Amino acid sequence: MKRMEIIILGSGTSMGVPMAGCDCRVCQSSDPKDKRLRTSVFIRTGNARILIDTSADYRQQMLRENIRDLDAVLYTHHHVDHILGMDDLRSFNLLNRHSIPLYGMAETMENIRRVFTYAFNNEKQASSIPMLEINLINDQPFQVADVPVIPIPLFHGKMPVLGFRIGNFAYCTDVSFIPETSYDLLKNVDVLILDALRYRPHPTHFSIDEAVAEAQKIAAGKTYFTHISHQVLHAEAEAALPENIHLAYDGLRFNLSRD
Ligand SMILES: [Zn+2]
Ligand SMILES: [Zn+2]
Ligand SMILES: [Zn+2]
Repeated sequence: MKRMEIIILGSGTSMGVPMAGCDCRVCQSSDPKDKRLRTSVFIRTGNARILIDTSADYRQQMLRENIRDLDAVLYTHHHVDHILGMDDLRSFNLLNRHSIPLYGMAETMENIRRVFTYAFNNEKQASSIPMLEINLINDQPFQVADVPVIPIPLFHGKMPVLGFRIGNFAYCTDVSFIPETSYDLLKNVDVLILDALRYRPHPTHFSIDEAVAEAQKIAAGKTYFTHISHQVLHAEAEAALPENIHLAYDGLRFNLSRD
């Protein structure tokens, strides 16, 4: 049986929680579960250490969890809360003397190239730049070292984005619509991480009610919500959720078997 360790690095929406300058009860809450870095997850299994998205809080997340190298970064989409930490991959380049493979759809990688022009223009730089290796993916399964990864096509508003399934773990952040064919890819999942931004509906994210309905339709062993805004107080929202549906929080970890 192959083991898989999963760590929620961040469970917060694009501005994080607390949001700078905000006096609301969630931003002022003393509950550590109301402190949310930008959304990201780390998976260690087989010969692979896999990061999903380089969040704006990437450096802090690597330090907190004492992660010392990566074998792959999988990108869900190019929104800046999911990519801005990319420049900090330099420390692993430097210390471990290898480039880091990035995996994303063509549109995602084009936007990453545009935002981080200096990292890809092959001009000699006076200071260090990240060493990266771009791998384009679509909806077809691929391998990271000895680990099979299944992309899950999703919609984030009108934008096509990817979720990922590794073994019986699935990660679907930044989603407001799941195409019918993608439900097949989510069958028999033990742990599902799913976007649930806030109580009120939003054009590009599931609300809590919508995410509960999706979670019940997918019927994973357990579902944890992520990408949570400062309108959601952890203890209050958690108490109101149905069985086997929870809010994720930063530092939450799971040990699963991969087969
Ligand atoms: Zn986001
Ligand atoms: Zn607030
Ligand atoms: Zn997004």
